[in-house]
Amino acid sequence: MKRFLLAYLALVALAWGWALALPGAGAAPLNAWALREHALTLTGLWSFALMSLAMVLAMRPARLEGVFGGMDRIYRAHKWAGILAIGFAALHWTVELADGLIKTLVGRDGRLAREHGSDLFEAMRDLGEEFGEIAVYALVAMLVLTLWKRFPFRLWRYAHKIMPVLYLMLAFHAAFLAPIGYWTQPVGVLLGLLIACGSAASIHALAGWIGRSRRSAGVIESVAEPAPGLTRVRCRLDAAWPGHRAGQFAFVTFDRVEGEHPFTIACADRGDRRVTFEIKALGDYTRGLARRLQPGARVTVEGPYGRFNLAPGDVGRPQLWVAGGIGITPFLAWLESLQDAPAQAPDADLYYCVRSRDDDPFVSRLEALTRTLPSVRLHVLSSAQGERLDARRLGARAPERAQPAIWFCGPRGLRATLARELAAAGLAGIRVRHEAFDMR
Ligand SMILES: Cc1cc2nc3c(=O)[nH]c(=O)nc-3n(C[C@H](O)[C@H](O)[C@H](O)COP(=O)(O)OP(=O)(O)OC[C@H]3O[C@@H](n4cnc5c(N)ncnc54)[C@H](O)[C@@H]3O)c2cc1C
Repeated sequence: MKRFLLAYLALVALAWGWALALPGAGAAPLNAWALREHALTLTGLWSFALMSLAMVLAMRPARLEGVFGGMDRIYRAHKWAGILAIGFAALHWTVELADGLIKTLVGRDGRLAREHGSDLFEAMRDLGEEFGEIAVYALVAMLVLTLWKRFPFRLWRYAHKIMPVLYLMLAFHAAFLAPIGYWTQPVGVLLGLLIACGSAASIHALAGWIGRSRRSAGVIESVAEPAPGLTRVRCRLDAAWPGHRAGQFAFVTFDRVEGEHPFTIACADRGDRRVTFEIKALGDYTRGLARRLQPGARVTVEGPYGRFNLAPGDVGRPQLWVAGGIGITPFLAWLESLQDAPAQAPDADLYYCVRSRDDDPFVSRLEALTRTLPSVRLHVLSSAQGERLDARRLGARAPERAQPAIWFCGPRGLRATLARELAAAGLAGIRVRHEAFDMR
């Protein structure tokens, strides 16, 4: 993702530099005023390009899952594009305010002449400036709320709904404040494209159309609480549901006021449009969920999304599967889907890290599912019994010749431990495919 964002920024800088390199464009002497102007246009372009990208990615473009490696990664790219966009917007605003400082330090000499147009154009420019100022303050406030993890996610989600409106204000600002000469250059074509795509995405978001074509209605068939803090919900969906691949997830709405939450579909697809979710109480809404859900109630499921799927090419390759807590859900779906075709099961070691093996609601099910799959070995690591995921275990299990494919789903801390222990086991540098459960 880092490389993608850097390449994107480089492309924007190239288009900006192209306009600058044209004969006559850089004719003004390179003084403090000219430098300010260049900094203003480049930070503005970077900020707007990233904001446009964030808007487009917020549309949940399932077609881009292959490029990014899943919808969870698309969300991550959306988040970082947004954070960087706000950073550049703040810089852009700071450069704008540097006007007074430059005047004090070097005076007005060498100041670039302001472009002028018709009265209507000037009025639009003034309005664009106002919009830009309001938007930048609102964006910085939004960034603070995003990074302040203690701010309740539910409230954050409502506040976040203002983003398409802020984007449209920024698009107006960009359209009227970009140098007029840009519109005959590649940078103008790029800017036009960004405004068009980002505005279309904003209108789509404001109309509530995000994910509309992937939504299915359904009913809750059963609700259970197999262990304290765990809700198991089985739903039957309508004919619009396209089916899923083991390991995918969906955005589930049990309650319209609460809105959607992403959950892995923790079962195999049997072609009967039934999906099961195993939901751990990890926050305000998921706490006590089993008591609030009733069989027969309506549910909306949007998806399926995600690329946490065993591909046919993976099957011949030895595997290390590592799950922490509720991160076991995609592996449950994999194991279930392999029940009908045990010969297709890869040579895999599944490490399931839990607090206490004796109280865990999934251990007996995993044991039953792996019993019929001789090539899949289950290792339950119970921290209550002092068992930890370590290099010795991973190294001993890692096949000597072939590099294993490593899949991980679980908390961030466990992922860091896995990376450390893999390095200690001489398996550093192997890509670990993981599902990001934390999108904020
Ligand atoms: C791809 C994916 C698959 C997941 N699969 C499972 C699963 O199978 N079982 C399970 O128990 N949990 C799963 N989760 C985590 C689950 O979505 C959150 O625990 C749940 O939404 C928390 O909601 P809350 O209101 O109780 O907690 P809050 O404290 O309100 O939220 C905690 C965190 O959950 C995330 N979250 C909450 N709502 C949303 C949302 N609408 N969109 C994106 N992120 C949100 C945010 O990162 C937030 O910071 C998955 C998450 C993702 C991204």
